[in-house]
Amino acid sequence: MDDDLTLVDAEFTKTCPSAPIEPGSSLFGIVAAKGQIAYITPNVPVTHELLVILGEDGVPIENRLRFAGPCIEHRCVQWMGEAGAGRCGLIDHAIDALGITAGMESLPLCGIRQSCRWFAQYNRRACAACPEVIRRPKTTIAEMAEVASKAVLSS
Ligand code: SF4
Repeated sequence: MDDDLTLVDAEFTKTCPSAPIEPGSSLFGIVAAKGQIAYITPNVPVTHELLVILGEDGVPIENRLRFAGPCIEHRCVQWMGEAGAGRCGLIDHAIDALGITAGMESLPLCGIRQSCRWFAQYNRRACAACPEVIRRPKTTIAEMAEVASKAVLSS
């Protein structure tokens, strides 16, 4: 068992709505069009098999899907401030760049709202910005599938 991962699970309770695809994250939205997300409830856990299926057509996965995972706070490059006393700088930037001043009147059926880091910071305004955010991966789908495979083999 990975002691560091156990510490992360116990220490951080919020959910990141822009998480990388890896074991422990889950699929919670499909990019239907630019600025439009079809939210999936309940979320679908990421498995090695899912990664292989999703990567088959070669289209970058993050252009089509959204994944959620534990918010790791100060261990994330987007975090602003101290552990337990900071905030997610990504949603700060998105709200500012998009000029969002009002929240959504009718909230989408999103499966992570109760623990969503962005919702905790901006309430309904976060949900107005959320569909505009698409993660740009630094790793390829083949590399992610390999990571998932190793995690399965070592568990
Ligand atoms: S910002 Fe709103 S819609 Fe997006 S993941 Fe959080 S709760 Fe769901």
